[in-house]
Amino acid sequence: MKRIYKEIKQEVEECYDEIQHYEAKLKGLREKCDHPETTRVNYMWAPGHINPDTEVCSICGEVTPRKNPYIVENMDPEKME
Ligand SMILES: [Zn+2]
Repeated sequence: MKRIYKEIKQEVEECYDEIQHYEAKLKGLREKCDHPETTRVNYMWAPGHINPDTEVCSICGEVTPRKNPYIVENMDPEKME
C-alpha cells in the first residue's frame, strides 16, 4: 500500500476514535440536562428520513420524548365522574 493511503487510513481511524469520544461526552452531558426548554424542528433521524415537528432540547439537543396525546397525565380516578 502506498504511504499516502496508510496515512489516510491511520487518520480515518483516529477520526472514528474521536467520534466515539465525543459521542460519549454528548451522552454524559445530555444525561445531566433536564431539558428545560424545547424547540420544534424538522429532525432528520437518518438520511432522507425527516420527522417534522419534533421537540428537541434547546440546551443539549436531545430529542425529547413525544407526549402521547391519548394519555391524560396526573389523572386521578377518584375525581372522575
Ligand atoms: Zn437537554
